[in-house]
Amino acid sequence: MDDCVFCKIVKGEIPSEKVYEDSEILAFKDINPIAPVHILVIPKTHIKSLVEFNDDELLAKMFKVIKQIAKDQNIEESGYRVVTNIGENGGQAVKHLHFHVIGGRKLETR
Ligand code: AMP
Ligand code: ZN
Repeated sequence: MDDCVFCKIVKGEIPSEKVYEDSEILAFKDINPIAPVHILVIPKTHIKSLVEFNDDELLAKMFKVIKQIAKDQNIEESGYRVVTNIGENGGQAVKHLHFHVIGGRKLETR
């Protein structure tokens, strides 16, 4: 998608601090982190949100990557949060499926 910021990151048209990459998945640091560790994990193909995502195999791979990132970032033991915002009420700003991996401090609960 031409006007999608994450597609531009995939294509290298916008810089990013990559932490993981393979042929299908990219992970990079969130530009506006809410915690010491805040990484976004995305499929390289443009998929709008979890609603449109039907690739179970890729979903499993993405969660494997998320678990590996947590290990690499040393937040596995202290705990962390995996979030995907969906649509209007979910507060999704970027309409390209992404999983936030957030940790490194005690996160708010309610
Ligand atoms: P969401 O509200 O779930 O759509 O979150 C979008 C996230 O993308 C926010 O946490 C932003 O800080 C992050 N973001 C937006 N543009 C960039 C960028 N160019 N590089 C890294 N992260 C970005
Ligand atoms: Zn996109």
